Amino acid sequence: MDRPSTPPTDIRANLASVTARIARAAAAAGRAPGSVTLVAVSKTHGVPSIRAALEAGQRCFGENRVQEARAKWPALRAQHPDLELHLIGPLQTNKARDAVALFDAIETIDRPKLAAALAREMALQGKRPNCFVEVNIGNEPQKAGIAPDDVPAFLAACRELHRLPIVGLMCIPPLGADPRPYFERLAELARRSSVPLVSMGMSEDFEAAVAAGATHVRVGTAIFGARQNI
Ligand SMILES: *Cc1c(COP(=O)(O)O)cnc(C)c1O
Repeated sequence: MDRPSTPPTDIRANLASVTARIARAAAAAGRAPGSVTLVAVSKTHGVPSIRAALEAGQRCFGENRVQEARAKWPALRAQHPDLELHLIGPLQTNKARDAVALFDAIETIDRPKLAAALAREMALQGKRPNCFVEVNIGNEPQKAGIAPDDVPAFLAACRELHRLPIVGLMCIPPLGADPRPYFERLAELARRSSVPLVSMGMSEDFEAAVAAGATHVRVGTAIFGARQNI
């Protein structure tokens, strides 16, 4: 969490700058200014940093761990009922209950067992967070996500078997490679599968993601500064 030695990060200015860059990238691609949602990734950052973003008007946030979100967000949500919290990190099946309770969107559905567990929890809790399927867009052996070729069958199972509210696809392209072809591939996969939302692009490459058709960009460092050790 924030330590006294942490240099002050001007979160309001960073948000304004990222938002302006998104708007410019959208305009350059001939897209409407409101067609991209900024998911401010607050993982490892403490509540004071999140409050600064809320005060600057940011309402959509991303966390990558259920436990960390549970510690940080219930109190903030009580004060800001209009905020939207996305789970962007790997989800263990045994945390499906907490994930459904805590998040408005779950971006990392990457295997049949998890889809089944989430469906069960949604029925039990009467709550249906928006679901994104995570795609292993670079076919990397060590990486989570559904292989691109398997996406149609997995989507069909999520929709027809589990009745999950699938709204989007999400990816993290291979590290160190030009992300553009991967972004374009994910957008194309979403189009072909009639999935309206596409979550891709981080601090280093969100403008390229917007150019390729991202509806959600997940930006942490460019807003909150370097990640804190927690
Ligand atoms: C941490 C994280 C981000 C944000 O990364 P930055 O480089 O800090 O912008 C985006 N997506 C996922 C899945 C992440 O884990």
